[in-house]
Amino acid sequence: MADKNKLTPMMQQYQAIKDQYPDAFLFYRLGDFYEMFNEDAVKGSQLLELTLTSRSHKSKHPTPMCGVPHRAVQNYIDILIDKGYKVAICEQIEDPKTAKGMVKRAITQLVTPGTKTDAGADNAKNNNYLTALSYNDGKYGFAYADLSTGELKVSTLNSDDSVLNETLSLQTKEIVLGPKSPKKIVNLLQKVGILISHQDTVDIKSEMSYLLQGIDSELERDVLNRLLTYILNTQKRNLSHMQKVVEYQPAHFLKLDHNSQYNLEINKNIRTGKKSGTLLWLLDETKTAMGGRKLKRWLNRPLINKEDILQRQQFVESFLNNYFERSQLRESLTEVYDLERLAGKVSFGSVNGRDLIQLKSSLNQIPKLKHVIGELDSSIFGDFYKKIDPLDDIVDLIERSINEEPPISVTDGGVIKSNYDKQLDKYRDAMKNGKHWLAELEQKERNITGINNLKIGYNRVFGYYIEVTKANLAKLPEDRYERKQTLTNAERFATPELKETEALILEAQDKSKILEYNLFKEVREIVKDSIQRIQELADLVSSLDVLQGFATVSEDYHFVKPKLNDNHDLEIIDGRHPVVEKVLGRQTYVPNSVLMNADTNVLLITGPNMSGKSTYMRQLALTVIMSQIGCFVPAKLASMPIFDQIFTRIGAADDLISGESTFMVEMKESNAAIEHATPNSLILFDEIGRGTATYDGMALAQSIIEYVHDNLHAKTLFSTHYHELTALDKSLKNLQNVHVGATEKDGNLVFLHKVEKGAADKSYGIHVAKLAGLPDKLLERADNILVSLESKDKTLNHSDDDTKNTNSTDNYQLELFKQQNVSNDEFDVHVNEQNPVLEEIKQADL
Ligand code: ADP
Repeated sequence: MADKNKLTPMMQQYQAIKDQYPDAFLFYRLGDFYEMFNEDAVKGSQLLELTLTSRSHKSKHPTPMCGVPHRAVQNYIDILIDKGYKVAICEQIEDPKTAKGMVKRAITQLVTPGTKTDAGADNAKNNNYLTALSYNDGKYGFAYADLSTGELKVSTLNSDDSVLNETLSLQTKEIVLGPKSPKKIVNLLQKVGILISHQDTVDIKSEMSYLLQGIDSELERDVLNRLLTYILNTQKRNLSHMQKVVEYQPAHFLKLDHNSQYNLEINKNIRTGKKSGTLLWLLDETKTAMGGRKLKRWLNRPLINKEDILQRQQFVESFLNNYFERSQLRESLTEVYDLERLAGKVSFGSVNGRDLIQLKSSLNQIPKLKHVIGELDSSIFGDFYKKIDPLDDIVDLIERSINEEPPISVTDGGVIKSNYDKQLDKYRDAMKNGKHWLAELEQKERNITGINNLKIGYNRVFGYYIEVTKANLAKLPEDRYERKQTLTNAERFATPELKETEALILEAQDKSKILEYNLFKEVREIVKDSIQRIQELADLVSSLDVLQGFATVSEDYHFVKPKLNDNHDLEIIDGRHPVVEKVLGRQTYVPNSVLMNADTNVLLITGPNMSGKSTYMRQLALTVIMSQIGCFVPAKLASMPIFDQIFTRIGAADDLISGESTFMVEMKESNAAIEHATPNSLILFDEIGRGTATYDGMALAQSIIEYVHDNLHAKTLFSTHYHELTALDKSLKNLQNVHVGATEKDGNLVFLHKVEKGAADKSYGIHVAKLAGLPDKLLERADNILVSLESKDKTLNHSDDDTKNTNSTDNYQLELFKQQNVSNDEFDVHVNEQNPVLEEIKQADL
């Protein structure tokens, strides 16, 4: 960098500001542009595809520079923010016309991925969360806020895993850390690509401390203070829409870790990364953006309190039974704009006339909406009805004050209606009548002077003038005419009367703009005083929106109300995977029941690949989630308990975070279930053990089933292609076999996708290979190997029945324990002699 003293005064000012924001792109306001310099310019020009130029190019070290026009700045900011960068906006904070020396400049806002509030249409249904973390003595204070809506939440988390789960499931892009954060969590957060910001000192202004009311935990207060300090430091603007903090505990909701959420495709399609093809996509029949965001929040935190679930069910049922009211409600909701984000804009002071008109037309829907709710079952909806406040006073104010079609700018006039303010009306009168007055004056002067071609004109330099041609000059009386300008053929004059009229007209223009802006600000302040009321209304309206949406999907897709039982009974008759069904079509999808009475804890599902085992398990998980968010479920009949947690090991997800192998992830996820599952949990294990050598995997699969069966008592679905495991139903009394049927037709395999009682009687792997088109010779060889394998006894014995152990059981154990038992030559010999395939597996580099 060049010697600071040699810099021009402007570049000195630039550098001084840049030094305070080393990790952000500095957008430095120069006239109609925001300029970037030095490294910012080089990198920024690449990222934003701008032309890189330079300042003082005659010097030895020209300064790289690029700029964006101030009117288009938002687009450029968005691009950088979406790429995970920060942008510091540096404005001129005094009027360049009146400034002495360098115009003063200062950062007016630091935009970061977590604090971005201009969501854009694409993100209307997504929250943008900024999170913060404080650490003390093994515990984390965890807080998050959405600046655009004012939502603020806090919790205490006990492990790195929960921190990671919360951050990932909130899809936060930025996390604010304090000085004490353990290295391990910092590394984890970095690995998953979350932008890390730091806020070491905590200094929260007293005007915001009311937000923390009711929070006693020191750690939680600390993290909230950290979050709010960071927000204040970056935003430097009014935040009166921030809502009082809500304390929550993840344990008060159905627990579903991030991997499960990912694999079950709740919010995000694994292949496309988009919403389409997910449960959220299927369920989203909301009509408002805020309803869309609430649905997502509900979906990511299903309930576990029976009363709460039943209450939502009642609303849904009532909406289902009242089609007319529901469609009226839907119609009204379509007209409701994003009240939450409008409230945020009001607070930031960034609303314009058009936003207020949106607010008004949204509020205009509320009486109608309230009436519809009043027509529904009052014992259920009474509370909604009572609480809905149509904010008549605000509607009235905007109706009286703001033009129906105001311009975007709030400083150029045209925003405020006539008859709202007397002085403004006077100015407008002056502006409108100005022309008329001038015409009258012109005529009067012609009459007095007798000069018929005398005319009144206007130019920017001299203002209004009376023009008289040279030929007529003699006719002009001496007294009132003051010479202003001489042209070749004419002279221009002013008179006291003309000056007075001119002053009135010009003043009217200027003053009316200023007055209009002040009036607009007054209106905005009054609306601001009602932010909390707007937010409360938004909360009610968005809940109604989600609930009517549940009713709508329940009707469209033939869902039924699940009965919630307390006796550990799972009875789902003809259940369906709602998303697969929607994609395949109702006619094609084969419904399947899940029947697990209080005495059945483990369902062992066998069947060929592609027969539908995984779909069957996912179907159950989605049904449970739908039930616990209060929606109806895809089945003919459903009675189910309330689950506290869902553990899954589904899909081929290599762990994106740790980069561990599939098998390691399998084992870790199994362990999570084994450690934390309760009798009220649901465990879904899809093909555990396939990530390692056959017998290794089978041995582990069996021991996991046994462990789960004997110790956890959680409802467990376990799919496997190890056909041998089906024998476990003899020794495990709470285990039942089911299989997904397939038939052979003309030597080919036809999937029925029907889940039936009992074990599948044959492994169909080779047939699937045939369907996939593998060469006949290869298939023949596989058939031979299969026959030789099947000729051996594969029955495995439950561990508490050791007396029945056979030779082949030893085979299975061999693979698993070989490392420890190298001395046991007998087993090795046995394997070598008996089976070349096993020998190959043994040699493989695992
Ligand atoms: P598996 O886990 O047994 O390998 P999947 O559950 O992945 O099989 O299902 C394979 C395919 O079969 C799915 O992509 C789906 O298209 C179809 N399928 C699964 N279950 C059903 C069903 N109940 N009805 C119709 N098609 C189904």
